[in-house]
Amino acid sequence: MNMENDYDVIIAGGGPAGLAAAIYSARSGVRTVVLESLAVGGVAAATPVIENYPGFESISGFELSQRMEAQAVFCGAEIKYARAEKIEDGEIKRVALSTGEVLRAPALVLATGSEPRKLGLGGEKELLGAGLSYCATCDGNFFRGKTVAVVGGGSHAAASAEYLAPIAKKVYRIHSGKLAVADGVENIENARIQALEGNPLTGVKLALPNGERTLELNGLFVALGYTPASELIKGLVATDGNGYIICDEKMQTNKNGIFAAGDSVKKSLRQIATAVSDGAIAGQFAAVYAKRFKNLTATK
Ligand SMILES: Cc1cc2nc3c(=O)[nH]c(=O)nc-3n(C[C@H](O)[C@H](O)[C@H](O)COP(=O)(O)OP(=O)(O)OC[C@H]3O[C@@H](n4cnc5c(N)ncnc54)[C@H](O)[C@@H]3O)c2cc1C
Repeated sequence: MNMENDYDVIIAGGGPAGLAAAIYSARSGVRTVVLESLAVGGVAAATPVIENYPGFESISGFELSQRMEAQAVFCGAEIKYARAEKIEDGEIKRVALSTGEVLRAPALVLATGSEPRKLGLGGEKELLGAGLSYCATCDGNFFRGKTVAVVGGGSHAAASAEYLAPIAKKVYRIHSGKLAVADGVENIENARIQALEGNPLTGVKLALPNGERTLELNGLFVALGYTPASELIKGLVATDGNGYIICDEKMQTNKNGIFAAGDSVKKSLRQIATAVSDGAIAGQFAAVYAKRFKNLTATK
């Protein structure tokens, strides 16, 4: 056995959930590694301004992520820049990395996050933070007193429009079907966004049954739902119909020793504060699991 590759707790994903898990796991004295395929901080690191993380009236996602990473390292966690490519379950879990290495540990935390579904239109990426957002709870306040639209026909879009109604001057809800919308929201049904206009965003070009229309906007909230970034977990742990991981109150999945945290988990609010909460619980109980495992194997 190569001791270099043996840990007590392996955490896949270095976003807020993974880093919080690392702080709790490493602080409780077990050998902890965080695997991150891109950059620590995850989605949060790319968010220019965060105004709803307790303790900071306003902080850049990059700075918040740097602080979380420094704290995880200070507590004794190791950060490895590699993609977790394959997980083999067992008493000892084996995680194959993009570097060719294989890591082993009795406890694992899955914290690989989720991604907002995109419109798939030209300029979408460039407009992120310049009038286009995927998160009303996160960015709604930047559009106080402005004209915005929410695009999407599901519950995520309904909740986003309802959240924005008392904040914005005007809220449109754009969707391709026919449905009722909340008070204070103007319904644009049977509509499809054809193009995004301006940079920063000045409006959208809509295709409607009776022709085209340009809708002038200060902000567009794309609320088409999220996809868990969890190819890694397919067939490994139980998920709901949308692919989100189902956990118990200790953030343990249906597999012993496999915990999960953050946006990849089935829950009702995907935010940094809730990712950190999940991570704290998952890290704490993954460490407890690893310690019990070590004690049991030592007495065998
Ligand atoms: C545009 C936008 C703005 C937002 N603004 C706010 C805000 O203002 N306030 C707020 O509270 N929340 C905000 N959110 C939500 C918040 O960013 C997320 O809820 C939070 O980042 C979730 O943390 P996480 O650790 O679960 O996932 P993520 O942040 O997605 O992190 C997951 C990490 O795992 C890594 N990873 C994935 N797969 C693998 C693998 N196989 N191997 C290794 N690493 C892997 C990814 O690279 C990533 O770094 C925003 C979200 C979006 C999309």
